[in-house]
Amino acid sequence: MPASKGYAAQSKSTPLAPYAFTRREPLPSDIVVDLLYCGVCHSDLHMARNEWGNAVYPMVPGHEIVGTVTSVGSAVTKFKVGDIAAIGVLVDSCRTCSKCEKGEEQYCLNGMTLTYAVPDRFDGSITMGGYSSNYVVDERYAHTVPANLAATKELLAGVAPLLCAGITTYSPLKHWGVGPGSKVGIVGLGGLGHMGLKFAHSFGAHVVQFTTSLKKKEDALRLGADEVVLSTDEDAMKAHANSFDFILDTASAPHSLDPYSALLKHDAAMALVGLPEVPPVVDVTNFIFRRASLSGSCIGGVPETQEMLNYCGEHNITSDIEIIAMPQINEAFERMLKQDVKYRFVIDLKTL
Ligand SMILES: [Zn+2]
Ligand SMILES: [Zn+2]
Repeated sequence: MPASKGYAAQSKSTPLAPYAFTRREPLPSDIVVDLLYCGVCHSDLHMARNEWGNAVYPMVPGHEIVGTVTSVGSAVTKFKVGDIAAIGVLVDSCRTCSKCEKGEEQYCLNGMTLTYAVPDRFDGSITMGGYSSNYVVDERYAHTVPANLAATKELLAGVAPLLCAGITTYSPLKHWGVGPGSKVGIVGLGGLGHMGLKFAHSFGAHVVQFTTSLKKKEDALRLGADEVVLSTDEDAMKAHANSFDFILDTASAPHSLDPYSALLKHDAAMALVGLPEVPPVVDVTNFIFRRASLSGSCIGGVPETQEMLNYCGEHNITSDIEIIAMPQINEAFERMLKQDVKYRFVIDLKTL
């Protein structure tokens, strides 16, 4: 079994620290990937600290992964040794249910296999994430990276967050048909929000960035916002009443949905992609009297994730990142809690 080293949490209250383990024995359709970069997602912090109650320790977090393929099984056709591969939030699924057949493996009726902290479907070992030196994955669940996005180390590091923050915002914007003529609101300007903003702008929509701090205004305009609205400014919010075709709420800190749902048009939708620890209380009248929808969206399936990466290649889209060394991860978690990052930390795994 391939030996791996990484950084693991041993309990919900211990900082991440060096940890050695083994990966599953590679299967004929598996590739072994030597990891180069891994993004630091807010979920990693929630999971490491057991804030959703489903943690398994020791836990190696990380599900925004890019690396170099170092070996391929006898049945592998999509990759060869030396290729760049990308791995996201899901690394397996039942492959036979209606959702898997449709390429919506994230909604697998038998439960997708997450990149870390769940039993592997083949050998039952607990999956370990991308804060590590390598990964073993079935090629079906790995993605290719457009050559232009792998041209430099800096670009490739900015690809890593596309695997969660990117697809999590790309998928709902596509599903709700955002494009030229749409007026779209983005709530939250963090790892997810800044990608939602980039995609909505790239799709040709009129994009309004909501923020709780006008300090981010210049950045939001640079990232593609047509307008920036301070969500605590009631008059500024009222000026947008009944005008949005779609609102993507990426905020994971507890917040009221009502100021935003009041801005939806008739038959419009608001989708949530942040996972607050406390369920929101919702003013249903904002939905009833507009026949509006409150919805959610979970990452994207394998085909759509590849489509998103290809789109990013065609349009030169990557995440805005700050590269850190592996030992800085605990400090990075603390800074992430203070929203002190523009807009995603990415670990350079050569520093392991
Ligand atoms: Zn994530
Ligand atoms: Zn399935």
